[in-house]
Amino acid sequence: MEEFDPETQLIRGGLARSSFGETAEAIYMTSGFVYQSAEAAEARFKGEEPGFIYSRYGNPTVRMFEERLAGLDGAELAYATASGMAAVFNGLLACVKAGDHVLASRVLFGSCFYIIQTLLPRYGVETSFVDSADPADWAKAMRPNTKVVFLETPANPTLALLDLKAIADIAHAGGARLMVDNALASPIVQRPFEFGADIVVYSATKHIDGQGRCLGGAILADKAFLETEFQPFLRHTGPALSPFNAWVLVKGLETLALRVERQSETALKLARRVEAHGAVKATLYPFLESHPQHALARSQMTTGGTLLSLDLGSKAAAFAFLNALEIVDISNNLGDAKSLATHPATTTHRALPEADRRAIGIGDGLVRVSIGLESEAALARDFERALDAAHAAA
Ligand SMILES: *Cc1c(COP(=O)(O)O)cnc(C)c1O
Repeated sequence: MEEFDPETQLIRGGLARSSFGETAEAIYMTSGFVYQSAEAAEARFKGEEPGFIYSRYGNPTVRMFEERLAGLDGAELAYATASGMAAVFNGLLACVKAGDHVLASRVLFGSCFYIIQTLLPRYGVETSFVDSADPADWAKAMRPNTKVVFLETPANPTLALLDLKAIADIAHAGGARLMVDNALASPIVQRPFEFGADIVVYSATKHIDGQGRCLGGAILADKAFLETEFQPFLRHTGPALSPFNAWVLVKGLETLALRVERQSETALKLARRVEAHGAVKATLYPFLESHPQHALARSQMTTGGTLLSLDLGSKAAAFAFLNALEIVDISNNLGDAKSLATHPATTTHRALPEADRRAIGIGDGLVRVSIGLESEAALARDFERALDAAHAAA
């Protein structure tokens, strides 16, 4: 089979038509499968004959999603899960045992932080966090028993970056795997395997669906890891993705590049406008020249992404901004066709102690906006209105 370029892979990758020759991918809404004979069932269970056994193990629609996404990211294999967190949790658990150590970035999606800080230690896994973007600090934090280095870049909601290549080299020198949560960037904006990542996890709920319809996740890696270590986890613990949701996500992939590229373009234009407005203390966007890690952003991301964060200086100004928006909705989701804005300190990052929140740059004035597919002109007017309200409230 010819290897597709990314645009073609998004449309054609993994496509497996039935004997009916349907144009669109079929939804195989079935829990189980039947066999031609007792011998065929025996052979399939022994792994001597290809084919599906049970949808907790694998399903044709789910397989199409897995193959399309794996090919896009340059991974040998992908396994889909019912949510992004199922991918993160199962991926981590498949890599460690009691006595091992997991090193992670402090700035993580809240549920990832909870798993690493609270859950893993309950099962005898040591964990620790790095606050810094300096690779030297990551090297210092490695321990002889570090098995996984886990990070997210750009970080949510500060959009601070980590150097993928440098941290991958540090992980490998210490005999650990680098696992990257790439949900925020999406596979269009950042390809972590090219910088040395060993495992990439996604919340497909975000950009891959990107239209607010369903939850989903995926874990991508080399065949050896996924087949020997992760597959037993998936098969026996049951985080399987529904075939219907897999179908929604397969169709989401078809328009992923178009959506993310347009959303990124609009985000950059809006970032430039916002930066020029007096009401803003700081405009955080990786492809702005003023971003402290602008050069790193240009070297490991293809666009600045779909998220834009603003520091409006105070909670009053941030709330005035949110309440004055007429088009952008107040919502904690991201990567959606609809532009969505949230106040991290009182919603997504509310559980973090205030000192930690401040240490990682999530002040009371910070607002995160996920830029959607509305016109730039309409969003610019909405921002203008909201910035004026923020200015008046400050
Ligand atoms: C949303 C998100 C998750 C969790 O994904 P779900 O699909 O909601 O389980 C994990 N990591 C990041 C960076 C996210 O944005």
